[in-house]
Amino acid sequence: MTLIYPGSFDPVTTGHIDIAQRGAKLADRLIIAVLDNPNKKTLFTVAERVELLKDAFKSDIKIEVDSFSGLLAEYAVIRGANAILRGLRSPTDFESEARYAAYNKMLTGAEPHLDGIDTIYLPASPHLAFISSSIVREVAAHTPDINGNNVISSMITPVARVALIEKFGRMK
Ligand code: ADP
Repeated sequence: MTLIYPGSFDPVTTGHIDIAQRGAKLADRLIIAVLDNPNKKTLFTVAERVELLKDAFKSDIKIEVDSFSGLLAEYAVIRGANAILRGLRSPTDFESEARYAAYNKMLTGAEPHLDGIDTIYLPASPHLAFISSSIVREVAAHTPDINGNNVISSMITPVARVALIEKFGRMK
């Protein structure tokens, strides 16, 4: 079974890593797919986000990192995925996710309720459920010395931390 785990990953967090590793245990192959959406302003470019993910999963042979633009449903079909993987942090996440799941199933099925691609959800691990890329970006932007900031360090990989320091250093 091939799972596709799509998202912005701006940047990858320990919450994303947890979902990807747990998802990979359920599948033969997991493709982490970074959405390239020119309409969405991001801190890291697609290439940078892909690099940070590749570094995070460099020793995991089941996990591949890629990027895509356009419709996820179309990309999932092209990549031969059996299901889409998403993480759920809260009931609010579920509300929007349920709509996307129905939409992706309809777009990939000959009939709305038949054959289309399903979405599998994994609940966030309780100790990581509060972590999000937006919190990481916010704290990093307002913390003068994120080098010594243990809060940030517990949420991202060491390489992502260096990338954040460089990003905000350059922006000053
Ligand atoms: P998107 O913009 O598509 O929501 P994100 O990069 O924010 O992209 O998240 C990608 C996926 O990872 C989503 O399914 C999101 O719910 C999930 N996710 C993000 N942070 C966590 C976390 N701390 N624990 C579990 N899942 C998470």
